[in-house]
Amino acid sequence: MTSPPIIFHFHNSYQTLPERFYTRVVPVPVADPRLIVFNHALADELGLDPAILEPSAPDLFSGNRLPTDAAPIAMVYAGHQFGHFVPRLGDGRAILLGEVIDRNGKRRDIQLKGSGKTPYSRQGDGRAWLGPVLREYLLSEAMHALGIPTTRALAAVTTGEIVRREQPLPGAILTRVAASHIRIGTFEYFAARGDYHAVQALADHVLARHFPDLVPEHDRYWALLQAVTERQAYLVARWMLVGFIHGVMNTDNMTVSGETIDYGPCAFLDAYDPATVFSSIDTWGRYAFGKQPDIAAWNLARLAGALIPIMEPDNQNARERASAVIHGFPARFTQYWLEGMRRKIGLGSCAEEDVALIQDLLAAMQAGAADFTLTFRRLCAASVNAGTDETLRVLFTQPAAFDAWAVRWRARLQQDTLSDAERLASMRATNPAYIPRNHRVEAALEAALQGDTGPFETLLALLRHPWDDRPALAEYADPPPPSQWPFQTFCGT
Ligand code: AMP
Ligand code: MG
Repeated sequence: MTSPPIIFHFHNSYQTLPERFYTRVVPVPVADPRLIVFNHALADELGLDPAILEPSAPDLFSGNRLPTDAAPIAMVYAGHQFGHFVPRLGDGRAILLGEVIDRNGKRRDIQLKGSGKTPYSRQGDGRAWLGPVLREYLLSEAMHALGIPTTRALAAVTTGEIVRREQPLPGAILTRVAASHIRIGTFEYFAARGDYHAVQALADHVLARHFPDLVPEHDRYWALLQAVTERQAYLVARWMLVGFIHGVMNTDNMTVSGETIDYGPCAFLDAYDPATVFSSIDTWGRYAFGKQPDIAAWNLARLAGALIPIMEPDNQNARERASAVIHGFPARFTQYWLEGMRRKIGLGSCAEEDVALIQDLLAAMQAGAADFTLTFRRLCAASVNAGTDETLRVLFTQPAAFDAWAVRWRARLQQDTLSDAERLASMRATNPAYIPRNHRVEAALEAALQGDTGPFETLLALLRHPWDDRPALAEYADPPPPSQWPFQTFCGT
């Protein structure tokens, strides 16, 4: 008996761009696909019927079976990696199945990651293994639950094949969903070749797809630069407000849609220190926690460089106006960040002293090696009850610094507009109880590699509700024990 055709109702737009933007490819079949995890809620959001998909899920999400209407492609791009320009990268282990229009009318890419070689694989095998696949699944879904723009995870399968890295590892494929997979590096690819017809076609595509309100603008390419800058200022501020370190902010890992993409070596801070780096390959700390806003601006300057030649006939004028946008990034970032930090410490109003109040808390946290997430979470209760201060003091190696700060904080709260109940609710909805703690993530992945996906499922379920206290799982809020420091992440996907 043959199973019925599966139709995703793709509405592909990227392939209406000239052929030099992509290559038609098909996933390389795998030996023995098995479904590890499937995101029912996301499937439903995409307008895909989970009941129809699920029986065929191992075949579909491994690429062994294509939806009847799929016309898969691999996209080409370039990028600055650790500051060095690589003129040709591209989807080396990813294949775009197609674009669907979701239940909210939004266009979403559905991509298989780890589905075999493409013309852009260079020396790579086009494959992924289970650890990084589940890591991206957990981390990206956790970011989504925190309300941070991100690509999503629809499914993870194992392939039944061995992937060779430093050792043999179980192969796996992630199905990633994104507003688009267009990166700053996609613009750089064409700009570096002097192919400004392509840059313009891409800019028009991105405007229509992500910024339709700007299409009628007389200065639409300049407006595009400004809009992407705005979204990245917001995004990176949101990262900084939860202690997220992306780890590999190369221009090929930065979307123009403003979604977080590429979860290779990312990790959340424990003790607050802007110099924190987890990635084993980031030797010089280029992508350290505190450097992320500067790096985002540097990356946006690369986008500006690609767009300036199509902005207006007067190149000098275009250059000056684009440069003004990039120089405006710190102010835009700071505004989003300050708004968020005010909320984190329970302020509903603005006062001049707030900046110093916030900076002094962070300085005390850094000097006292206080855990970032726990400090802000415990401030929630402390904002309405000074009797809980001991739960905060124990987080600081120098509690006196916290005590001194708390006196100023409470004086400021006295002048604020929020009621206690409002403040508590607002703080608890912005300071998560649970983040993907590095040691918990590692333990969940380790168990999954041994065939037990229970810890992964527990962690995923917990991270879907990061704001709720869960007494039975209270230890999941704790930072790693000192025996597990320092933590390192690896790109080796
Ligand atoms: P990343 O550092 O993960 O952003 O990847 C950088 C580039 O290397 C991208 O163009 C990837 O498609 C490519 N790449 C990474 N891993 C592989 C692999 N196993 N096989 C082929 N290409 C890969
Ligand atoms: Mg990448």
